[in-house]
Amino acid sequence: MVARQGLLFGGVEMEVPFWERSPTTYRDLSVIWVARDLSPHQLKIRPNSLQHAHLSLCPFHSENNPSAFFRPEQNTFTCYGCGRRGGAIYLAHELTGNALAYLESKNLLNRGDARQLDDLRRFLLEEESRGINDGDFIYCIFS
Ligand SMILES: [Zn+2]
Repeated sequence: MVARQGLLFGGVEMEVPFWERSPTTYRDLSVIWVARDLSPHQLKIRPNSLQHAHLSLCPFHSENNPSAFFRPEQNTFTCYGCGRRGGAIYLAHELTGNALAYLESKNLLNRGDARQLDDLRRFLLEEESRGINDGDFIYCIFS
């Protein structure tokens, strides 16, 4: 469970949706948070209630109509234009070239801690078993 974080609007505390919150571990890193943090241009990621998704232009390819879907409940990203898809750590890896260095720069990982690396590998394998990331990606970031 993620700690509750609020924002003050005119003295009233509003709850921030979980996908907008700053992560405290790599397990609560959200695809939407990563995309906003890393995309080269300011992404406008808008909720699309009909599809239970958020939509934006793709951070990977040039386009005029949004084809990137973010599904906060599953914490997944899918682009129907270029075919890229995966979870938050995959997205960070594709946008920075080094997922582990990115997690370290956000104080979410200490690469010197073997137990943390084991836990991260386990987490990514859990995601793989749910069809979120593929094994090649996991192999790639740990090799
Ligand atoms: Zn794309």
